Amino acid sequence: MSIQIFNTLKREKEPFKPLKDGEVKMYVCGPTVYNYIHIGNARPIIVFDTVRRYFTYRGYDVKFVSNFTDVDDKLIRAANELKLTVPEVADRFIGAYFDDVDQLNVAKATVNPRVTENMDEIIQMINTLIEKGYAYESAGDVYFRTKKFKDYGKLSGQELSELQHGARVEYNERKQDELDFTLWKAAKPGEIFWESPFGNGRPGWHIECSALAKKYLGETIDIHAGGQDLVFPHHEDEIAQSEAATGKTFANYWMHNAFLNIDGEKMSKSLGNFITLHDVLKDNDPNVIRFFMLSVHYRKPITLNDAILEDAKNGLERLMIAYQNIDHRIQTDDGEYVEETHEDEWLEQLTELKQAFEDDMDDDFNTANAITTFHELAKRANIYLAKETVSINVLREFLSMMRLFAEVLGLKLENTQTDSLDDSEVEALIEERLQARNERNFARADEIRDILKEKNIILEDTAQGTRFRRG
Ligand code: AMP
Ligand code: ZN
Repeated sequence: MSIQIFNTLKREKEPFKPLKDGEVKMYVCGPTVYNYIHIGNARPIIVFDTVRRYFTYRGYDVKFVSNFTDVDDKLIRAANELKLTVPEVADRFIGAYFDDVDQLNVAKATVNPRVTENMDEIIQMINTLIEKGYAYESAGDVYFRTKKFKDYGKLSGQELSELQHGARVEYNERKQDELDFTLWKAAKPGEIFWESPFGNGRPGWHIECSALAKKYLGETIDIHAGGQDLVFPHHEDEIAQSEAATGKTFANYWMHNAFLNIDGEKMSKSLGNFITLHDVLKDNDPNVIRFFMLSVHYRKPITLNDAILEDAKNGLERLMIAYQNIDHRIQTDDGEYVEETHEDEWLEQLTELKQAFEDDMDDDFNTANAITTFHELAKRANIYLAKETVSINVLREFLSMMRLFAEVLGLKLENTQTDSLDDSEVEALIEERLQARNERNFARADEIRDILKEKNIILEDTAQGTRFRRG
């Protein structure tokens, strides 16, 4: 089966057909680097990194471009507040961005272009739009003539006529029409500026992505992605600019992730309900954050709270323990554990699970289902390990399959954390184990024993109850 992508432009899933065989050109709108990113912003980063990984797994060469908006009103304000220059603010937060995102096991983009390093291309595209009559200068600004682009609204499913009556468009007397949007903004006295044929100033937000995608990937790209709040107006405006300038389709597939919510609301800088990724990573294993993010399909909202993070931690731990136990069994193989009779059946089961994992991911990158399949693999691994005789071939196949799934999802299965549990946490797990046993859920009871063992905590079941000691 081919990879199916939910295309916002078509409002349905479509089979992925690349522009060029074996290659994917992908552009993801990047951050405005005036501050630390919040954990909501980490959702598109993790999701589209996973999309990229899956394409790579399926044999595609992925060209992945994601920009840094390193000049805008917010950067200028931050520079004034921090008594730094705009490039200094950008450098600081680009550095912080990589420090945080690298921990999440996000692969480096093919290119991370900065707006300020690509002014010529941006100015050139604005010029083309003016020449073609799609843009006009007004008192040092340049605006896009929205109504001239007849397809405007096709991505967000709105008619131009509806938009006209929508009151939420910013009024500005320099615009010829209220729907027109900014391509170039004249600099105010004292502000950072670039020289251009339209006067000193800086680009609007939307034009940068159109110009950068064209420069680094070409006039038509395969996939353009970002969070769902970018559909309108940002991506709608990008389509208008790019397609008006080149006369070609800008992107064949548009992918948008749903929001990460906190207390029932979208996490956002403007609502003030945000937690920076930087702070989250101080208290949480980045591997768990990544696992949590992928545990829900990207087009569904995801909620951040302690209980959900705890579930993610336990879920990931189950996979890690199964992996480590298999690994340990292989390391300690003395050639005696050979069981020939059922080897083929087990290998066949593993092939089926691999197929199931691919089917999950082919279905619009359904990482939630892929994680369920991963759990099934871990469960079978545990069952296999409990057998008296095992085959080294099957063990190796389990190990390599777990590595494969982990690689696609960007998870680490080796133990990187050595954190220990405090007494009350151990007691809570013992209590949960007791309850699991009472409910005859022996699999969960054993799992808890394994989790504790992993932390060097040994359980002793006595007539007086379960005691523990640290090994
Ligand atoms: P911004 O800094 O607001 O431009 O956002 C950067 C990226 O994060 C964009 O792709 C946004 O759509 C995305 N984003 C912002 N807030 C959230 C959220 N609460 N949940 C998921 N994605 C978000
Ligand atoms: Zn963009």
